[in-house]
This record gives sequence, C-alpha cells and structure tokens, in this order.
Amino acid sequence: FAELEAVDPEIADIVTGELDRLRGGLQLIASENLTSAAVLAAQGSVLTNKYAEGYPGNRYYGGCEVVDRAETLAIERAKSLFGADHVNVQPHSGANANLAVYAAFAQPGDAVLAMSLPHGGHLTHGSKVNFSGRWFTAVPYHVRRDTELIDYDEVRELALVHRPRIIVAGATAYSREIDFAAFRSIADEVGAILWVDAAHFIGLVAGQAIPSPVPYADVVSATTHKVLRGPRGGMLMCRQEHARAIDKAVFPFSQGGPMMHTIAAKAVAFREAQTENYRRYAAQVVANAQALSQSLTDAGMRAVSGGTDTHLALFDLQHLGVDGRTAEARCAAAAIVLNKNAIPFDPAPPAVASGIRVGSAAVTSQGFDASDMNTVGVLLSRAVRAEAGTVGGDRELASVKNDVTALVTRKPAYPDA
Ligand code: PLP
Repeated sequence: FAELEAVDPEIADIVTGELDRLRGGLQLIASENLTSAAVLAAQGSVLTNKYAEGYPGNRYYGGCEVVDRAETLAIERAKSLFGADHVNVQPHSGANANLAVYAAFAQPGDAVLAMSLPHGGHLTHGSKVNFSGRWFTAVPYHVRRDTELIDYDEVRELALVHRPRIIVAGATAYSREIDFAAFRSIADEVGAILWVDAAHFIGLVAGQAIPSPVPYADVVSATTHKVLRGPRGGMLMCRQEHARAIDKAVFPFSQGGPMMHTIAAKAVAFREAQTENYRRYAAQVVANAQALSQSLTDAGMRAVSGGTDTHLALFDLQHLGVDGRTAEARCAAAAIVLNKNAIPFDPAPPAVASGIRVGSAAVTSQGFDASDMNTVGVLLSRAVRAEAGTVGGDRELASVKNDVTALVTRKPAYPDA
C-alpha cells in the first residue's frame, strides 16, 4: 500500500476512504460481503498480467503453465464443493455468466420463462433494458398475492402455453427457499432447459445452509462475491452433456482473456468455503437474517412472505407512511447502508419503491450474532421513522448514528487492516 500512496495518493486516499466507510457503518446490502485478506491478496497479485485465452492445457498463448494450475484448482475445488459435473470459472460477473447461459441454450427470439423483475427477478431475466429482454421473448412468472411465494401453478401454466426454451429459477429479491424439484418437473414436462441463477444464495449452498440446486438444474449460474465471500466475479456449473456448449459460450463467444488473478481468488474462496468455519458462518448468516427480520417485524414493519429462509429479507413500509427511497436516505444519514426495493404488486414506481431489502452476509463476516442483529433492527427502525429535515428527526438520526458507531466499533470490519 505504501507504493500506491507514493505513486497515486488520490487513489490511495480513496481506498482508505472506502475502508473507513466500510468500518464506519452497517453494511446491509444483501449482495455485498467482506472478502478475506487471502482473497484480496490473490486478487491483487501478478496473475493479473497473464493472457490465457482458452482453457487449462489448451490456451492460445504461451506461458500459461502456472496460471493453468490456478484455474484447474478453482475448477476442482468448485466441483467438489458443489458436487457439479462441470465448472467454468471464467465469467467476469454474474451478468456475463448469464449471457453465456442464453448463448449456450437459446436462439434470439426464443421464449424464456423467468421471475418478473418487480417480483424479485434480475435484469438478465428478461428486462427490456437488458440484452435478455431485447433479444429473447421474456415470459414473466410471479409470486402469489396471498403468500408472496412463487406461484408454481402459474409457472406450470405459462410453461405449457409458451413452451419456453429455458426456465429460470433464482432471483435478486426473494427471501425464501426455492422448490427446485417443482421447477425440474415443469421443465421436464415441457422439454425446457432448467437454469438456476444462484447468484445470491450460492454461498449458502456452499455452506450447506440451504438445499443445493445442482442435482436438479441443467445449468447453475452464480456470482462469487455475495454470500460466498470471494472476489467479484461469476461462475457456471452444468451437467456433463452441456460442458462443451457452456465453455464455448463463455470463450470465445462472449469473453476474451480470463482474469487469472480473479480466478485464483475464486479458488481461495472455494477453499475457505470448504471449511467447518465457513459452514458455521453460512448457518449464522441465515440465523442473523431471521433475527433481523424478527426485530424489524417487532418494530412494526411487514416482512414480505412473512420472513426469510436465506441471507436477505424484504420489508414493506407502506403502512408506516414512508417510501423505500426515503427510508434508504434516512438510514444512510445514520450510517446504515441498504437499498430501497420494489415489493410484489408495488403501487409505487421503481425509483421510489415501497420497500427496503436487507442482508446479513457482511455484518456476519464481522462477527455479528443474533443479539447484535436485534440491536441492528431497533436502530434501523428508529432511522426509518426519523423525519429527516425536522429538528427532532435530525437529532434522532444523529443519535442513531452514534449508536451505530458504538456497535461497529465493538465488532469492526477488517479489524487487522
Ligand atoms: N443474477 C442475479 C440473481 C443477481 O442478483 C445478480 C446481481 O445482483 C446478477 C445475476 C448479476 O451479477 P453481477 O452484478 O456480478 O453481474
């Protein structure tokens, strides 16, 4: 770091500033985590220099014998961690992994059945502003109004009518376990590929905290930087019969040279995820999300679907008379970092939204337990109710911020950095 400070003090200052920001508040963004020093070391290594188009043992460049070992280790560790037939660790991100899935299994114009974006799906599941919605015919399924759980009857009905090429299970803002067996049976009934987008929850699968989609899916896409706590990136797992199609869809179809430093860091994360320590972490992530969910419910917020089985929870704030955008801003003023989120059947536009989404992965990495999460819930609800811009509201937000500081000082992020 001394080198960075000498060469580029402005960027050094930004890195220090971000570390201070991480330490100074509660990081409740459900898609974020705090990677280990070992992952950061691999990511910031000389492996960034190497061009290695192709796959281990079959590259378009010389000098790949060392980085081949990193990619082979990443693949073998992921195969054993998830029990997958075939793994590709080259996707630069979750969205890139998803692009490769479309490329491997569908042609432009084909129908793809996926969770509706306002009900929790991801942009790459058929949004008009994304390649997926522009190049493919998106057919959205929804959650039920009464339970706010995936409407499996609707999934089946839509599958029978539209005969999609691909059915997608997996979402960005859905807090419950997904019935992969139900999706498999619907996919089999209509001859569709079953793709599970496990970007959010793959880390819980790695830690055996929730059931694995791998035995059910033709292909599983994932990110490595959320609960899994690796470097920012993507990965794909598939049945052996799809291995060639998936590899070709990543390189050469949609990417050039792989990021070997990131692949090495993914290997480190997979190794960390194979430990008993990580399994305890994954179980604690779920316990902490449930404790936070209970605390917010006790404070008068409504948990969408009644709670959570995973690392995230979605809250409807409508009856508090506070919209998601306002809640996000009030929390930010108290150093509680989270995002506004649409809730199913949301009457508010997406830029305003009626809900917030919270996640427990990052705070669990810094050692928070269920009793800390109860405190987090109390602080969060005080912040959401504080009317910023009024004397009393601003005073309350300052007081919440003080309490947040006390909490994160007791269990800091990156205590040794
Ligand atoms: N798929 C899902 C379900 C996601 O939630 C996300 C990101 O939040 C992605 C894909 C995309 O991942 P990335 O941001 O790495 O492109």
